Amino acid sequence: MKKYDDIVVGSGISGLTMALILGMNGRKVLLLEKSSRIGGSVSRFYKRGIPFDTGFHFTGGLDQSGILHDILSVLGIRDFIQPIFLSEDKAHCFFFESENRLYEIPYGIENIKKKFKGYFPGEGSNIDRYFDKVRHVCARTPSMDLRVLGASLQHHLEEDFLSLEEVLNGLTGNAVLRALLSGFAMCYGVMPKEISFANHSRMSLNLYESVARIKDGGDALIRAFEAKFKNCDIEIQCNKYIANLEDIQNKRVGRFI
Ligand SMILES: Cc1cc2nc3c(=O)[nH]c(=O)nc-3n(C[C@H](O)[C@H](O)[C@H](O)COP(=O)(O)OP(=O)(O)OC[C@H]3O[C@@H](n4cnc5c(N)ncnc54)[C@H](O)[C@@H]3O)c2cc1C
Repeated sequence: MKKYDDIVVGSGISGLTMALILGMNGRKVLLLEKSSRIGGSVSRFYKRGIPFDTGFHFTGGLDQSGILHDILSVLGIRDFIQPIFLSEDKAHCFFFESENRLYEIPYGIENIKKKFKGYFPGEGSNIDRYFDKVRHVCARTPSMDLRVLGASLQHHLEEDFLSLEEVLNGLTGNAVLRALLSGFAMCYGVMPKEISFANHSRMSLNLYESVARIKDGGDALIRAFEAKFKNCDIEIQCNKYIANLEDIQNKRVGRFI
């Protein structure tokens, strides 16, 4: 029986990050993955030589002031990846069949506001209020700024208890504008009535500020983690999963099978 300081279960981006943080802090880590390779949803698959990304197509936060830039820098893997920023004036396009109309969304909050105000004349102050509210939530969420992490504890905000739908309904009667402002729901996969305005804001702010792909997609991230693991005491075992936890005392697991 081998001994480890920590066992990380699952090697998606969360497990890879956790294992590396522990390893960088001198811990002996076992990373267990039930499938045949590491990476979880960020890994690519190939069909006839063509790469397909399943769960990692684009991201926000890779610009110099972005949260992902900071996270990857702390992990020492920022230089392993090559961001490819999307076109600033046309990062996303939303097509509304009911209107037979295409809406192009740039990035950069001021650019988005300008574009939206052009699409929806008369909604200018509501558009400003929406982005003020998003920024206000993020400014009061300490975990969104690694440079002040630990400075104050995370606490719930009033907006954690309001749904995105409630906030948008209170903001504007224009259904198309409301739909566009909920557009990044595609990134967290639930309806506006099912997500808090606070979590919507935390997810969306960095995507409003910049949008990038990464050269070689999620595989580039996985390779970067693998390279950093070599400098740490991290063992990876694939095709392995925890079947049972035993000898549990005071919420601590004594053994696992
Ligand atoms: C279709 C789709 C598109 C997406 N597009 C984007 C995008 O463009 N940009 C973006 O930033 N995010 C995107 N996401 C979200 C992103 O992919 C996920 O948030 C992220 O990959 C989740 O990582 P994770 O480590 O939490 O979980 P996962 O990637 O699911 O990893 C969990 C791992 O744990 C393993 N596991 C589970 N149970 C066990 C067990 N008992 N024992 C051992 N191993 C176990 C699994 O095999 C898996 O490898 C997308 C998601 C989806 C589904």
